[in-house]
This record gives sequence, structure tokens and C-alpha cells, in this order.
Amino acid sequence: MHDHRRLGRELDLFDTDPLMGAGLPYWLPDGAAVRHALESYIRESERRAGYRHVHSPVLGKRELYEISGHWEHYSEDMFPPMDLGGEQVVLRPSLCPHHALIYRSRARSHRELPLRLAELGGMYRAELSGVLGGLTRVRSIQLNDAHIFCSLDQVAEEARGALALIRRAYEAMGIEAARYRLSLPGAGGKYVTDPAMWQRAGALLVEVLEAEGIPYEAQEGEAAFYGPKIDVQIADGAGREATLSTVQVDFHQPARFDLSYIGADGAKHRPVMVHRAVIGSVERAVAHLIEVHGGAFPAWLAPVQVAVLPVSDAELPQAEELVRRCVEAGLRAEVAAPVQGTLGARIRAARLVPYQAVIGPAEAAGDQVSVRLRDGRRPVALPAAELIARVGAVVGAQGAELWP
Ligand SMILES: [Zn+2]
Repeated sequence: MHDHRRLGRELDLFDTDPLMGAGLPYWLPDGAAVRHALESYIRESERRAGYRHVHSPVLGKRELYEISGHWEHYSEDMFPPMDLGGEQVVLRPSLCPHHALIYRSRARSHRELPLRLAELGGMYRAELSGVLGGLTRVRSIQLNDAHIFCSLDQVAEEARGALALIRRAYEAMGIEAARYRLSLPGAGGKYVTDPAMWQRAGALLVEVLEAEGIPYEAQEGEAAFYGPKIDVQIADGAGREATLSTVQVDFHQPARFDLSYIGADGAKHRPVMVHRAVIGSVERAVAHLIEVHGGAFPAWLAPVQVAVLPVSDAELPQAEELVRRCVEAGLRAEVAAPVQGTLGARIRAARLVPYQAVIGPAEAAGDQVSVRLRDGRRPVALPAAELIARVGAVVGAQGAELWP
């Protein structure tokens, strides 16, 4: 596997600047293209799965996190509060409290449940500067988060649905889970006390994992302070594990925020919160994609999907026209002009681009292209329109295959 920090700089995906600060990477255009493709995929797959998207601010009053329990259990990972006109605001360490308030802002009926609120939103972690680096240890995080507010008897089905989203996303991204971990509370004061509640939540997650036939390892001491969780672990080249995706069952925050809904019986009931992240943080997901694929991303994620290479300056107008048509069709395409080097040098420079379209005099005359695939295959010359349609279909299918 590759080092995402080195490749990130070599491929112009992201970088840092001491004036912006450690652990605060910025995304260059090619990196931003990968990130946008991934975020669009997530939003669309959530939309199809019945999630509704919201936006909420990255700041909140200190009191909000006192209610949620983050202040008590998580404050060493939070940025210090800022004084603002007599009150204190903090950069949020999670999105759950905001979503709990959005839930609470309206009277809720059992007919609205399960209510799945999703947000790709910013959150902040006060990591120490010694451990910062690349996209994996950062202070500013874009979280692919969602909270499902549901009744107790809907929890298993919702957790199952979240696991299905995770598995489909891994397939589309061409990555694999190293293992599934059931994270339970360990010894120590970090965990909210209520053993009965914990046992119930843990049993629900075990039920889902076993019904799905997913092998897992139970591990104590890794749970969130508010409840047990299924963590989907990924591993880097050195075998170091990190959590990418998670499904958590929480009875605690609904009680803290006094959340309720009116049941079919006309009485007030307490919903359960299922927290889930399909790709966890966008930063960690892209770091892992870079390491697994060495920059040769699946076509739908590639920063440049089609490199158009005119053999000589004479075919430059046709090359520019093809790029325009690709862009019009929703693809990311660029010309690699003769001024950038010999044809061989340009083909090597574009080796990570899934499709290279070479245009010589014969192709230019017939509105054709000679296609080279990143994996070395060279399908015959095609009409330009057919290349656009075929690449468009591959990209639209969001799979790992290059030329079905
Ligand atoms: Zn949450």
C-alpha cells in the first residue's frame, strides 16, 4: 500500500500550510474533485435509502454539549470554548446534539418514524500537534453523519439498513473492511451508567450482526460514552487499524434531550437514536482510497477521467472540442497538449487517468478517438460519441470495472 501523505502531495490532491495550522489540510482542485464525487455518491445513496438531509452550524453553545454529555465525557478532545458576548460557544465535537434539537423542534408522531436525518458536516477535534499528519489525524473533520430517530422495535432494521449502505459503498470504492468490531464499554468512568440500557443496546447490535452473518469481534473499552457500536475497521499497509464506518445505538441522548413522539396509543414515547456513518470522515475515507488505489481511483472517483492527447498541434482543435463534449456530458476531462512533451511522455504522465483518448490525423478526420485504458488495454478506435457514452455509463454505474 502507498503512503497517502506522499501521494497526496505528488498528485496535487491536498496539502497543508503552517499559517493555516497543523492538522488543517486544504484540498487542491484534483483532491476536491475526488471529495465531491464521494460526497455526491453518499448523498445520493442516502436519498435512495430514505434519509433527509439537513445543515446545521459547526458551533454551538457550551450548554448544548453539557446537556448531550460531551462536555463531561469528551472535553479533553474538544477545543476550548470561546467567549462571545457573555456566553460561551464551542466548535462542535459531533453532530448529534444539533440533530437532536432539530428532532425536538417539532411535535413528532409515530407516523414520522423512522426519521433519518443526514448531514455531511464539519466537526472539530483538538488533537495534539505531535500526532497530526496527512488526512488521517486532523483537527477539522467533515463527517458523513446521520441520526435515525426510531422506536425500539425499528432499531434492528435500521442498523441492518446502515450496514447494507456501508457494504455497498465499500464495493463502489473498491475497498474492504479488515474486520467488524462490536465495541462495548470497558472499565472506567467514561461511560454513562445504566447497565440495563447498555445491555439492551448491545444485544440489538449482536442480533443484527448475527442475522446478517457478519463475523465480528467484541472488544471492551471502545464504545462511545453514550452507547455500544459496531465499528467497521480498515487497515493500512502496516496493518494498523482505524475505524471508518460505524453504527451505534443510543438510549442516552434521547433521554438527555427529553425527545419524544406520540405513539399510536396517543401516549408520549421516547425514541431511540441510531448514529451511523457510512464512510466516517471524508478525510479518512479519501486517505484510505489513496493508499489502496495508489492514486488509480475507480473511474467515478478519478480527478481526471478522460485525458485527451492530440498527436500533434494539428489535432489540438479536435482535442479541445472532445474535452468540451466530455465536460458537457458530466465527465472530468483535460487536454494533454503536445507542448507538454512527446506522446509517450504524455501517456506516461496520464498513467493514473482511467481513459486516454489519442487523436491523430486519421481520428481527427473521422471524429474518432483511439482509446487506451489505464490497465494497458487498447480497445479499437471508436467514434468520439461512443467513447463519451461508454465512459459516461461506467462512471454513472459507480463500480470498480473500467470497461465492461
Ligand atoms: Zn451522533
